[in-house]
Amino acid sequence: MYIKKPEWLRIKMQGGNVSTKVQNLISDLSLNTVCDEANCPNRMECFQRGTATFMILGRNCTRNCTFCNVTKAKPDEVDPMEPEKIAKAVSKLGLKHAVITSVTRDDLEDQGANQFAKVVEEIRKTTPEVTIELLIPDMQGNKKLIDIILNSEPNILNHNVETVPELYDKVRPMAVFERSIELLNYVKKTKPNIKTKSGMMLGLGETKEQVINVFKKLREVNCDILTLGQYLQPSKAHIPVVEYITPEQFNEYKKIALSMGFKKVASAPLVRSSYYAEDFC
Ligand code: SF4
Ligand code: SF4
Repeated sequence: MYIKKPEWLRIKMQGGNVSTKVQNLISDLSLNTVCDEANCPNRMECFQRGTATFMILGRNCTRNCTFCNVTKAKPDEVDPMEPEKIAKAVSKLGLKHAVITSVTRDDLEDQGANQFAKVVEEIRKTTPEVTIELLIPDMQGNKKLIDIILNSEPNILNHNVETVPELYDKVRPMAVFERSIELLNYVKKTKPNIKTKSGMMLGLGETKEQVINVFKKLREVNCDILTLGQYLQPSKAHIPVVEYITPEQFNEYKKIALSMGFKKVASAPLVRSSYYAEDFC
């Protein structure tokens, strides 16, 4: 059943040419952003602020999450020049904080771990003052591959649990909730200096109790930063929205999460994992 979008989700359209600058640079360097691929509702705002989240390892994903707008198709060739191009874009955009994510590459022997590490290396070479956040897939829980990424020393390691475990079969059929929690646990135990971050989309039919139980699981592994936003259905082919969570409910979740020990929490309908990520370093 279709539920009408509430007033608070109407996006204010803004003018200006900064978005053109970001988009031109991305297109000139043949890079991809999750902003475009995931059809993020904050694109106009983020591009106007001169920021974007880079998506490496191609445009096609090997997983089939039912909420996600990223194309599910035969994976692309890995571009060996991509790390240098990302470093160039970070420098040209004058970013203080760079967020890099990827599609999931279950087809690759290293699942893309080396490409993540090379991106960090290239950014450090060009702009050592920039803080780096990697939003990584679960690497199928392979700790040797996670080590490759961790040894590049990003400032923040982000891995989204996306939803409550009770909805994984419907929402993330190829993922395992416990594996994602263990990944965050491993990061914190191996490199306590790297901040860990995770996030969820709400409005998929989860209960308040289930949401708070996820907060508990994340805090048990000392996850530092939490993001909570409203799920928006990208197309009719995607899993429908069950509920629009009110801004007041988001505020309440924020208070609860902070009281449970998260150092920083972003919780509002339009929050996405990388929304104003520089404020969460
Ligand atoms: Fe891109 Fe993140 Fe901004 Fe969305 S919130 S437009 S994904 S930087
Ligand atoms: Fe989208 Fe990530 Fe799921 Fe791939 S693994 S379909 S990119 S959410």
